[in-house]
Amino acid sequence: MMRFVTTLSVLLPILSPTATGNEQVSSVPDTGCVKSVCRLHPNHFNLLTYLQCSRLANLLGPNSFFAGNRNLAVWDAKQQQTQSACRVLPTSTEDVSSVLGVILEESCRFAVKGGGHARDPDDSISAGGVTIDMQKMRSIQVAADRSRVKLGSGHVLYSLYSGLEKYNLTTLGGRVADVGLGGFALGGGFSSLSPAYGLAMDNIFEYELVLPNATIAKVNQHTHPDLYFALRGGMNNFGIITHFTMRAVPQGQVYGGSRTYSSNIREAVLQQASDLTTLWKNDTAMSFYYNFAYDQNLDDFTIAVNQEYALPTSDPPPFRQLNELPYESDTVRIDRLSNFSTDGISPGGGRNLYATVTYQPSVDLDRKLQDILIEELQPIKTISGLSPSLVIQPLYEAAVQANRERGGSAAGIQAEGPLTVVLFNTRWSDEKDDDAINALANRWLQRSLAATHEADKFHPWLYINYASKAQHPFAGYGEANLRKLVAIQREVDPKGIFTSKGLCRGYFKLL
Ligand SMILES: Cc1cc2nc3c(=O)[nH]c(=O)nc-3n(C[C@H](O)[C@H](O)[C@H](O)COP(=O)(O)OP(=O)(O)OC[C@H]3O[C@@H](n4cnc5c(N)ncnc54)[C@H](O)[C@@H]3O)c2cc1C
Repeated sequence: MMRFVTTLSVLLPILSPTATGNEQVSSVPDTGCVKSVCRLHPNHFNLLTYLQCSRLANLLGPNSFFAGNRNLAVWDAKQQQTQSACRVLPTSTEDVSSVLGVILEESCRFAVKGGGHARDPDDSISAGGVTIDMQKMRSIQVAADRSRVKLGSGHVLYSLYSGLEKYNLTTLGGRVADVGLGGFALGGGFSSLSPAYGLAMDNIFEYELVLPNATIAKVNQHTHPDLYFALRGGMNNFGIITHFTMRAVPQGQVYGGSRTYSSNIREAVLQQASDLTTLWKNDTAMSFYYNFAYDQNLDDFTIAVNQEYALPTSDPPPFRQLNELPYESDTVRIDRLSNFSTDGISPGGGRNLYATVTYQPSVDLDRKLQDILIEELQPIKTISGLSPSLVIQPLYEAAVQANRERGGSAAGIQAEGPLTVVLFNTRWSDEKDDDAINALANRWLQRSLAATHEADKFHPWLYINYASKAQHPFAGYGEANLRKLVAIQREVDPKGIFTSKGLCRGYFKLL
């Protein structure tokens, strides 16, 4: 067997299609590597993938796993069930470049995994090909003047916060400990610091990445202005990011935590959320979001409001009225961001679906979208493990402004005031219920969009990290931005490696 393997390895470059021009796209395998090239054995597909994985294992040694999901737990059950032929864990930009070089030579399908919180097969766990798992790339390099930090793209938010806390610094991270910096920052990144500094993507000064041709580039406003524009919102269409250089912000402990409320005081919470979005929008230390969630055990909805204030103040003025409401449970305290991030961990295991709507703030629309969920849920509310909820949060003016000030970005958010961003999300247990859940999400989405139009509050921008696969978030970036993004994608990736017909097809594709 060994000799057979060695012989085939030598032959492979001859058997493999040459990766040039459109040939690359037309010879892409459905799964694994090199489709219908070698007909030596009925299992040639697996055998070939095994051989190609062996080439990668030669590069990375113990940092490679066959099959890909050994020792791996990801958040969504659909992704967890997805088996890659092998998984490699690079430790440097050069590793990533070498891995991509082999993948291109062998024409293998692949996916890139950050924190693994995407929801569909092939998003970040390759279906039958190679998963490039960035989890070993968690370096932290603080600039001498402490204004910037270079972060390995494999950080999860807990490792990022706890690492930076050693320097009394933080950056624009998200709320939940095990979410990956990679997907979070490439899609946009809502952070508790966004009211002051904007989304995470507006606080990235430089990307180090491996381009679709496996070469390494450092991309900033001066070296590659077009690609720098595209990467801020353009998601995973331009290569594999290995490092983000981000804004560093001095930070000690902060006020934060969440309180839960019974659904019978929903009107009071709706009003408070509206006040926090509009009346308190200029207090940029303040941030909040709330969750209107169905609890199958109670057969009722509960509300959880997450309060965030970027100072160690015990009684921040914006939350005073909210904190007079009677609550059911409470985690509000002064603590470190790293500790707050562990409060929100949503254990892996179920099947998940996201969808999103954006509109100009309106308490009537907040209520309406919740009512639509209540109505649409009724016929299917006993589905095993079902837990739908709406997470509602503002995108403050400062975030929109920050986007503009950095010369604009692919995401192209245009707004005069704050926006309300709603994430529909649900979890369920069994594959047999997938269709019913998709139908629920679709009905909620269509009726909610209609309601935003009816109220004349519709906004086209969609947060890509909250969008469903039935939505088209790039269309919401505006026609001119989309045209520019597509042109940059074609220029950076002429062989279409990171397109829907290429080798890396997961998540949201421009082409
Ligand atoms: C429990 C939970 C809490 C969340 N909280 C927040 C929040 O507070 N704020 C917010 O804005 N969003 C939040 N999100 C949404 C989150 O930002 C997205 O789901 C994000 O895409 C997850 O990134 P990941 O790296 O964990 O996932 P992954 O599945 O690893 O990555 C998502 C996509 O990005 C690509 N990708 C990842 N890293 C790289 C890289 N280095 N180079 C190229 N492509 C890469 C992957 O290939 C994949 O297609 C949350 C999601 C969950 C499930």
